[in-house]
Amino acid sequence: MNNNIFQHFFDAKKNPTDHFIETEKGDRFTYADIFNLSGKIANALVESGLRPDDRVAAQVEKSVTALALYLAVVRCGAIFLPLNTAYTENEMTYFLSDAEPRILVCDLSRQMLGNFTMLTLSANDTGTLVDLAQSKISEFTTVHRSLDDLAAILYTSGTTGKSKGAMLSHGNLLSNAKSLVKIWHFTSDDILIHALPTYHTHGLFVATNTIMLAGASMIYLPKFDATQIINLMPRATTLMGVPTFYTRLLDHPELNQERVKNIRLFISGSAPLLAETHKEWSAKTGHAILERYGMTETNMNSSNPYEGERVAGTVGFPLPDIEIRIDASPGEIGMIEIKGPNVFKGYWRNPEKTAAEFREDYFISGDLGRFDERGYLHIVGRSKDLVITGGFNVYPIEIENEIDAVEGVLESAVIGLPHKDFGEAVTAIVVKNGDVTEAEIKSALNVKLAKFKQPKAIIFIESLPRNAMGKVQKNVLRELFKHLSA
Ligand code: AMP
Repeated sequence: MNNNIFQHFFDAKKNPTDHFIETEKGDRFTYADIFNLSGKIANALVESGLRPDDRVAAQVEKSVTALALYLAVVRCGAIFLPLNTAYTENEMTYFLSDAEPRILVCDLSRQMLGNFTMLTLSANDTGTLVDLAQSKISEFTTVHRSLDDLAAILYTSGTTGKSKGAMLSHGNLLSNAKSLVKIWHFTSDDILIHALPTYHTHGLFVATNTIMLAGASMIYLPKFDATQIINLMPRATTLMGVPTFYTRLLDHPELNQERVKNIRLFISGSAPLLAETHKEWSAKTGHAILERYGMTETNMNSSNPYEGERVAGTVGFPLPDIEIRIDASPGEIGMIEIKGPNVFKGYWRNPEKTAAEFREDYFISGDLGRFDERGYLHIVGRSKDLVITGGFNVYPIEIENEIDAVEGVLESAVIGLPHKDFGEAVTAIVVKNGDVTEAEIKSALNVKLAKFKQPKAIIFIESLPRNAMGKVQKNVLRELFKHLSA
């Protein structure tokens, strides 16, 4: 059996003339259109020298052609390597020398020299890749792949040290997409609003693979725009987003029950969704957002239930074929470790790092968490964000939740700064949305938290630094305020 994931998408679509994608401009494409385009691109790539197991690096804007490029690379039995368009030339040099792609696809304005063939693809769907593909036939025999063959390498965001290439197999992607279709009840009737970037696992795999395996359709938007999404909502059945999507939509005056009347499912992930956002969303729309947990190395690991209670502040239960264990006594906080067909094949050309992050077949996620009595997984944060002060462990989220509950506080981030007595000093970075003083926050925390957990300093800031996936960049905050270390 050919386990090339493209073959599974192809076989899942019983009627290829069904609608698949609508763009922002209103252009519409069927499954057959995109499958044919991927065949043309695959022929163009092979003519350009691509062989199975070669890498194709793509630093391109989100577009329908870029999506067909992903499918084409996979059809060739080659390895897709999407790169954030925000990467500088310096960063690109590292990725290209590490991954050694056979082909680089990039915008005309971002050409790079190296030992690879370069093809161009611009945001408006022009470039040498398009020219070459146009002259090709759409028939292409999808290369035979086993579940263990690689389909993609995704570089981690690299908040500590150099980013590493996570090797993902056809089996990794397929098993996860199958589970998500099932547990989230996707069918060919679904219409997804797709406003996520496609160089990241969330937009590329969670959203797109799930839709293709369900034979569903999507409204494909280049970026998040609250007004545009509010206007499209009546025509959609589902939205996948990072938490900032939901906070920004909540700020929109036209979000109401009427707008969302055809939506059956709102999903959030990639960063913690505040319990408060979950509550406000329910109050305003009548929908409980379904929060799930995943990462580049593992795809999705756990999800709140489709039927059953979606508990705010938790990431639900392990996916059907996935085991999650916590390295601690029952109910206690410990390292989250994951085993299953979703777990990646290791870091590209980095066997030492790979070996260091596995224990008895379990991937050591780097996230700290605990299971509650009902089996819901709670994530406490990245282990590297844990603050150790005077020998005590302080989990930032506990402090952040208390600070966020203070009147006048919009949000907060708790970090540890080096301290000569305590090792690290608990420090709170706070964004206000009203009148609140350092003394007021401190006195509110006084009655809620043990002395050692209370921030030694509170710093007010305009907004928290976040990456494109909505994650607060605590490494940036630690760097920014390290001069305050006492
Ligand atoms: P990435 O590899 O960029 O997808 O980042 C993965 C990391 O994002 C995980 O290891 C978690 O730290 C974090 N993450 C993803 N989903 C959630 C969630 N629902 N709640 C809290 N953190 C999350």
